[in-house]
Amino acid sequence: MAGTREPGERDRWLDWAQGRLARTGLRAGAVRVALLELLARDGDCLISAQQIVARLAARGVGSQASVYRLLDQFVVLGLLRRVVGRDGLARYEKAHPGHSHYHLVDARTGAVEPFTDARLEAAIAGAAERHGFQLDRYDVVLHGVRVRGGAA
Ligand SMILES: [Zn+2]
Repeated sequence: MAGTREPGERDRWLDWAQGRLARTGLRAGAVRVALLELLARDGDCLISAQQIVARLAARGVGSQASVYRLLDQFVVLGLLRRVVGRDGLARYEKAHPGHSHYHLVDARTGAVEPFTDARLEAAIAGAAERHGFQLDRYDVVLHGVRVRGGAA
């Protein structure tokens, strides 16, 4: 969840994301630089495209079209995860190898909650191994309704 990660995390994601982008050969414009910095700071868990556009616009950076285009590009490159809520809005968060969390989407309220589960991670890593597949990334979204408090 936002604010719960150790301080070095944002710089590690930024370094890793910049490295991946550099290898694509795509041009690094001012909007991309500002978007990366914003996501490094505010992108721990599910920020909407509208929030991102508004925060960049407040700094005088980026049109909606340019931000949406970059968000799509970052998802394709595996830098971001995209989750579409029941409200139909796309939300984004940093993807980073080894720092996974997942989401519960409550169909009744539309609430999206983050969760972590080491046994789930181990099971997915085991499945990839058994199927001879080198795992790059994956995503888990559980859709349902909350009937009681979850595991801590
Ligand atoms: Zn999240």
